Amino acid sequence: MSRMKHRRTAIMLLLLAMSSVLILGGCGTDTPKENSSETTQTGEIDPALAPNDDSEAGEEANDPVAALQTENALAQTVEQQNGKATVTNAESNLVVVNKERSLPDGYEPPDLVEPNVKFSFSEAHEKRHMRKEAAEALEKLFANAEENNIELNAVSGYRSYKRQQSLYSYYVDTQGEEYASRVSAVPGTSEHQTGLAIDVSSPSVGNVLEQVFGDSAEGKWLAQHAHEFGFIIRYPEDGESITGYLYEPWHIRYVGVEAATAVYNNKTTLEQFLGE
Ligand SMILES: [Zn+2]
Repeated sequence: MSRMKHRRTAIMLLLLAMSSVLILGGCGTDTPKENSSETTQTGEIDPALAPNDDSEAGEEANDPVAALQTENALAQTVEQQNGKATVTNAESNLVVVNKERSLPDGYEPPDLVEPNVKFSFSEAHEKRHMRKEAAEALEKLFANAEENNIELNAVSGYRSYKRQQSLYSYYVDTQGEEYASRVSAVPGTSEHQTGLAIDVSSPSVGNVLEQVFGDSAEGKWLAQHAHEFGFIIRYPEDGESITGYLYEPWHIRYVGVEAATAVYNNKTTLEQFLGE
């Protein structure tokens, strides 16, 4: 009997460990994106002014999505800094931060604000913040959800390099480096540090950041409508080989309406959208 009990305990521990990975996976490693709206606007305004002798440039000017893709192409937005592949477009709405692409050391977004939406907690905290454009889009998303009787709660937005560092060190100290790298993002590689990502859940599932949210009415609504407000489900189901993370139906990332709609319509990932 006691052997059975041990076995059961071992299984419980395993499940617990697996769920921590789910909870902290991409959320530990979120990347920032920046505002490419200027680019978009340029693309929209410029077509008439664009030289016609270059048909490719002309097409891009007429197609804001193509212009965004060119400007933020993965291969063009990374360079070696302090021995790490570091993004060169940290402030772009389309910046891609992942396990292979870090933010510059100590990066802080320039325009963090607190969106006026319902959070799952009441205290003041840096995780209430997002970059301004993303925060305004989140307010519209939440307002629209409410109109459709969908109750969302914001759970965790911006995460500073410093906080990611202490989170990561905590895992290294208590569980060892290998475990830490599996459950938490190496500082500088969390999309939450960009100020463009936020974890969202619903009281209907106890505001947990787990896959069960994806099966709830709120999670389904979010997956279907986030792009209308410029957000994508950053770590889609079956995307691990590309994004580096398991499915995270709760983690949304602001990229602007044009890019989000393209990613949604093509059922793709940000990495693939920008050329990988
Ligand atoms: Zn997250």
